[in-house]
Amino acid sequence: MNRLILSVLLIVLVGCDHQTGGSGRDKGDYEYLDTQTGLRVAYDVPSPITPDFIKEEWLYTLQCTELYASGPYVAMVKPGSFLPYSGMFYRGDEVIEIDADCLCIDVVAHEMIHYLLFENGLAVDNHESVLFSKCAPFSTLNEEYIY
Ligand SMILES: [Zn+2]
Repeated sequence: MNRLILSVLLIVLVGCDHQTGGSGRDKGDYEYLDTQTGLRVAYDVPSPITPDFIKEEWLYTLQCTELYASGPYVAMVKPGSFLPYSGMFYRGDEVIEIDADCLCIDVVAHEMIHYLLFENGLAVDNHESVLFSKCAPFSTLNEEYIY
């Protein structure tokens, strides 16, 4: 693959970091609630990433992982908040944050996999679960592929 294209893809696709602590958020504060799943979405800033898209990603992730949990709390945050990553999962309060400008190819699903693994008492500290490559394959690319 062309090196420039690959570099551009990496910027778009890079996955996430995760924190053992909390996000400091009030999870009662959100703009969107899906009453069927419990999914909540908060917007710190405007984002082209719609609640409908996030719900689709949640339903897809449940189906693909064959895991279950009530819907997560997802916040769209100021662009560049955790560069070079596009997403973050806070285990302390089970909050997902997504860069509001992220193109989000698999990034939302990637963070949801972290959440589902955590909720189900499975590995949460790394990306060793096969579910990342199975259900969010583009999010698992990282620096080691830059050459
Ligand atoms: Zn991750």
